[in-house]
Amino acid sequence: MDPRAFGVRSASIVVACAAFASGCFNAPSPLAPGLRGTVGVPNRGVLTESAELPVRGPGFTRYRPQSSHYFGNPRLVHALESAAANVARLAPGGAPLSIGDLSAKTGGRIPGHDSHRSGRDVDLLFYVTTPAGASVPSPGFVRFEGDGLARVDDTKDFVRVDIDREWLLLRSLLTSPDIGVQFMFVCHELEALLIDHARSLGEPDALVWQAETVMLEPSDSLRHDDHVHLRIACAPDEAVTGCSGGGPRWQWLPPTAPVRQLEARDWEEIAKDDPFDVNQRLTSELTEAARGF
Ligand SMILES: [Zn+2]
Repeated sequence: MDPRAFGVRSASIVVACAAFASGCFNAPSPLAPGLRGTVGVPNRGVLTESAELPVRGPGFTRYRPQSSHYFGNPRLVHALESAAANVARLAPGGAPLSIGDLSAKTGGRIPGHDSHRSGRDVDLLFYVTTPAGASVPSPGFVRFEGDGLARVDDTKDFVRVDIDREWLLLRSLLTSPDIGVQFMFVCHELEALLIDHARSLGEPDALVWQAETVMLEPSDSLRHDDHVHLRIACAPDEAVTGCSGGGPRWQWLPPTAPVRQLEARDWEEIAKDDPFDVNQRLTSELTEAARGF
């Protein structure tokens, strides 16, 4: 490789690092203070400065109260608390939202999940009713058919997805000032029931379109018929401190900070500092040698 080219390249990395406020050094550690919070992609990331979802609060309860996997990006935890409280306020008297795993305190791999490693993922059990429409606590991860009904193995009872409350939850999450929804994995039939319901309520077109857009079904995992998997997008400032990827970035989300394009003047400055520049090195060696005499 042309040493000058190498010098320019390495120097440009330094410039890029400066643009990212010193966030270029791989993993969060005392040697990499630029990386913090939600770091990396959700299936290969870690988490610092996490917040813990309480065991219960207004309108929600943990599915596994004693689990240590209830840590997340503070924005996500706050959005869950607000959304659940919102549902309880708008549709009082119902069973609470049952919330499944978030992430471990410092992120990384947790059993049963490929993702959930960087504090941006959470599993939300469905609000349910009896077939007659009375709100009842979630029976856990039971599989719903396309008509919104599921049979609970233990009791042999049927439950129905509580579409009213489920839509209130989705709407609260989609309009939350704390988060941008990157996606919600949910099976197509339940998505159709939710969208039909939103249309029947006369919800704004833009909101319904956003809901349709973020409700996805992954091609590489089981049908999402027993819970909703919510992932939040990186905030622009988090993108600077290591948060990345994890799915589509929708046009209504705030853009992450662009990297400044280097101009001709920058390249000249970089080239001038090239430590591999032969003439520059010879000049300084001669100067050193002259000092020796
Ligand atoms: Zn999940």
